Amino acid sequence: MHRIAVYPGSFDPITFGHLDLIDRGVEIADMLVVAVAGNLEKQTLFSVEERLALIRASLAGRPGAERVEVDAFEGLLVQYAAAKGATVILRGLRAVSDFEYEFQMALMNRQLAPRIETVFMMTSVKHSFLSSRLVKEVASLGGAVDGLVPPPVLEALRGRLPPPRPRGPRAAH
Ligand code: ADP
Repeated sequence: MHRIAVYPGSFDPITFGHLDLIDRGVEIADMLVVAVAGNLEKQTLFSVEERLALIRASLAGRPGAERVEVDAFEGLLVQYAAAKGATVILRGLRAVSDFEYEFQMALMNRQLAPRIETVFMMTSVKHSFLSSRLVKEVASLGGAVDGLVPPPVLEALRGRLPPPRPRGPRAAH
């Protein structure tokens, strides 16, 4: 049996948390498709093409990377997954706060495509606080995000975000 899993997300940008999940995902699937959502209503910092390129660059040389495909999709995830021949949708869980939304989505996807199973994996503890949104917020305020995102993303963030403003002590009045 050749098990194909789809790991969907916005990946804006990819973090070590996502990479941790990809490493785990290739252990349970023969082929893992990292699927970048293109039709998001939310504004993204990086374009789909940039997000794809950052994922590919970040995966280079990682064990199991030859069984990971990086692709973009639009429209219904379950339709995309079925077209890819996938039987598993992989999602990550960090905290209880992820649960409500993920539970709703998993049940809706099961309603739409009963043969596709959503599988949740817990992140490693050291990545449990990590999200793309927080990385962008911290980086835009001049905080260090090394150790949270892979080197190609660090580089891309440097080029994309305005240089940090000097933050001295506030002048006394
Ligand atoms: P979305 O916009 O769909 O939430 P993300 O790109 O933020 O997409 O995340 C894609 C998937 O990766 C989600 O299932 C999310 O829970 C998971 N994920 C994100 N960050 C982490 C992390 N630090 N550890 C484990 N899973 C994560």
